[in-house]
Amino acid sequence: MDILYKSTRGGGKPVTASEAILKGLADDGGLFVPERIPAFDRKPEEFAGLTYAETAYEVMKLYLTDYTEEELKDCIARAYDDKFDTEKIAPMAEAAGAFYLELFHGATIAFKDMALSILPHLMTTAAKKNHISNEIVILTATSGDTGKAALAGFAGVEGTRIIVFYPKSGVSPIQERQMVTQKGDNTFVVGIRGNFDDAQSGVKRIFSDHELRERLATRGFQFSSANSINIGRLVPQIVYYVYAYASLLGEGRIKSGEEINFVVPTGNFGNILAAYYARAMGLPIRRLICASNENKVLFDFFSSGIYDRNREFVLTSSPSMDILISSNLERLIYRIAGEDGAKNRAFMESLAAEGTYTIDDTMRKELEIFYGGYADGRETAERIREVCEKTGYVMDTHTAVASAVYEKYRRETNDTTKTVIVSTASPFKFTKSVMEAVDPSCKETDDFALADALAGLSGLRVPRAVEEIRNAPIVHDHVCGIPEMADMVCGFLGM
Ligand SMILES: *Cc1c(COP(=O)(O)O)cnc(C)c1O
Repeated sequence: MDILYKSTRGGGKPVTASEAILKGLADDGGLFVPERIPAFDRKPEEFAGLTYAETAYEVMKLYLTDYTEEELKDCIARAYDDKFDTEKIAPMAEAAGAFYLELFHGATIAFKDMALSILPHLMTTAAKKNHISNEIVILTATSGDTGKAALAGFAGVEGTRIIVFYPKSGVSPIQERQMVTQKGDNTFVVGIRGNFDDAQSGVKRIFSDHELRERLATRGFQFSSANSINIGRLVPQIVYYVYAYASLLGEGRIKSGEEINFVVPTGNFGNILAAYYARAMGLPIRRLICASNENKVLFDFFSSGIYDRNREFVLTSSPSMDILISSNLERLIYRIAGEDGAKNRAFMESLAAEGTYTIDDTMRKELEIFYGGYADGRETAERIREVCEKTGYVMDTHTAVASAVYEKYRRETNDTTKTVIVSTASPFKFTKSVMEAVDPSCKETDDFALADALAGLSGLRVPRAVEEIRNAPIVHDHVCGIPEMADMVCGFLGM
């Protein structure tokens, strides 16, 4: 049966999956959600032994019902190929009493590659299906990793242009270098004087500027989004939860039907929401542990039922999680509000106007499968050092936040359920913080020298993604303030 997508704010008519992917955001400012979450059409054990691509097809076909089998398989084949440095695509490691699901083996060595390798293909296929002749302009705000992954995905893709806004002083040096060296005539990268929330709100404002949209249309352009508000990001992320479960089953680590926990280092709430969808589809998940850094709005939300962004924005060693407005939480709020668009809209309006909202007890009861935790910079560094010393396994700062939170969770609850920590970036993407943690005596300051030192210490090879930018020329040097973001867009489009 076909699945249509509706807005979390109750407006507009339901649209097909391909239309939702093209639009990015619903016309009323809400996020697209499936009218119902489909159930698996087979038991989890039947996924064991499938390749990543086969698993992707079995999961995504349940959501993207207006794509033909051929279209979807073609998108999947183009996405999960030798851009990844392992055939497994999402391999699993075991260290210090937990499994680490490594989602950083793609082109830009962070988990954003899992969805952004396929989104451009889903989108260009959607354009064909819907007879769109406009050029699609992807507008993206990034806290560091989405930007490069989206640029890599869309660079050179015919019929598309991509514009990325990143916080000029809020990303790691490797992250910035990855973006400003991006080749491709259809790419445009701008540093903004502000933080990620400013970038994200700026992009949302441009999206909802109807006058600008009309001007664009007369020039043959239309906007879409590569941010995790796009349902075309969320659906591919469900795949690796199923794949991880099936891998554990296949290796005999768990029994059929056994529940497991996932710990997810969280910023915009996209990754962990995909796990929540996987659970709703029937994947045996006991608890979803939501790990935050010092920007712990989500921890506070899970402990109190109050979402409150009115606080200082902290720059941490896990910059991809430096976020105070977790966009995808809206999809969860909508669901626990009984899919009541008006009720959800009231919360989101309160968030926009006051920076806060409070959910009621009935809604809070629906959140019991979540556990919120956080780790500060010291705990994060300590965790990287401890696991490296004990086991030789080196993790990045984001993964370490999750790992540290899991330790606290285990101590607090004595829960012995087998647990997978979602490992979202390669340690080579955050070499400075990682090296400070594992070898404080290292005096290197250059990022590439640090990468070489980390390779020596860990026995791992410096990934291709880092080698590629070592000597690459800088081709993007635009910087602007928040109010000038729309002008930058128009400038790039020559209008
Ligand atoms: C984006 C990102 C996160 C946060 O993921 P969300 O889906 O935004 O919650 C965590 N770690 C890394 C390395 C990331 O790039």
